[in-house]
Amino acid sequence: MLKVNDNFTKLPSSYLFSEIARRVDTFAASHSGEKIIRMGIGDVTRPLCSEAIREMEEAVRHEADAATFRGYGPEQGHLFLREKIVAYDYAARGIDILPDEVFVSDGAKSDTGNIGDIISANCKVAVTDPVYPVYVDTNVMAGRAGEFDSSTGKWSDIEYLSCNDSNSFIPSLPKNHPDIIYLCYPNNPTGTTLTRNQLKEWVDYARANGAVILFDSAYEAYISESDVPHSIYEIEGAKEVAIEFRSFSKTAGFTGVRCGYTVVPHDLKGIDSSGKIVEVNSLWNRRQTTKFNGASYISQRAAEALYSPEGQKQVKETIAYYMTNAAMLRDGLAQAGIECRGGINAPYIWLKTPGGLSSWDFFDIMLKKCHLVGTPGVGFGPSGEGYFRLTAFSSHEATLEAVRRIERLSEL
Ligand code: PLP
Repeated sequence: MLKVNDNFTKLPSSYLFSEIARRVDTFAASHSGEKIIRMGIGDVTRPLCSEAIREMEEAVRHEADAATFRGYGPEQGHLFLREKIVAYDYAARGIDILPDEVFVSDGAKSDTGNIGDIISANCKVAVTDPVYPVYVDTNVMAGRAGEFDSSTGKWSDIEYLSCNDSNSFIPSLPKNHPDIIYLCYPNNPTGTTLTRNQLKEWVDYARANGAVILFDSAYEAYISESDVPHSIYEIEGAKEVAIEFRSFSKTAGFTGVRCGYTVVPHDLKGIDSSGKIVEVNSLWNRRQTTKFNGASYISQRAAEALYSPEGQKQVKETIAYYMTNAAMLRDGLAQAGIECRGGINAPYIWLKTPGGLSSWDFFDIMLKKCHLVGTPGVGFGPSGEGYFRLTAFSSHEATLEAVRRIERLSEL
């Protein structure tokens, strides 16, 4: 019999979305009439912009002709895309990143998960809490998490940096000297951000303590406030201590197309068990060239199109569409007397459940009173208890209707 990786069997079953589906199905089976509005899962709804479609169609024609056919590309991504990323996402913000520091991939989920391959099994990990579950679960798979305590909802070897109203969602610096710190800003699920000065404290901490920050900026395109950094490399010295993950998924509707990228600066160094200093960039390059054959040519051409003037305009329109929804939700919640965060630099609204209700009790009330589905905050980590996530990714019509129904919560 196959001896399996025990770390996988340690993972509790992914209860959150299956439990949401179970409760919604049970409710739907016993009620008819008002349609259920789903604002739980963080998938987008707007179609791909026309610039991306045009370039994809063109790329398909390249593939259809022996003279222009492209087979395997460079595992790190085609230069036409890496050069655009360097120019528009970094140089335009005054950040020097080289094309060979950019690794194009099939998305940020793979990269934030796979990065663990190049990190020692002994590294100590810190995450903000609540958290995008991929960071925790992939460390469990790698054996870095210790044991799960179901009474606290925490893994013994992971340091949880709590984010809630008592610290205005600004995590405190770690106490247990982690080697790796996952930061996601703008944050999923809370929609909160760090200012430039606040992020600088993390970079300074990492530099002083030999830690590395894994910075997930999948939602940077949603930033509207000027003191919120788009890239961790806007902070001096960050290239020595940070890896940055980006995604075209939420920026341009690429959740099904699949394309993202990771930046691993040459300045970032690691140390092996014999004390030898190594470039993290060359380890990631080795990992990618061994285990990954590159994002599809068609996806990369579509991503390239997003950097054309028309592509940039269309991306901005899509983001403005979702952020109009976010503003509607924020207003609707305020009218109903419900406090919330997010929705200004991110497509997520993180609301405090009224009357101290648990996340799941509030989920049931939303479902039964408003026929509205969101995500119970506790599903993202223990500090999410008493909170609830709504996404701005629906249509205007559905969002407007959701806001109308949220008025029913004023009586709570
Ligand atoms: N990182 C965060 C914080 C996310 O919320 C998501 C998707 O929901 C991802 C990464 C995954 O992005 P991708 O579609 O590029 O894999």
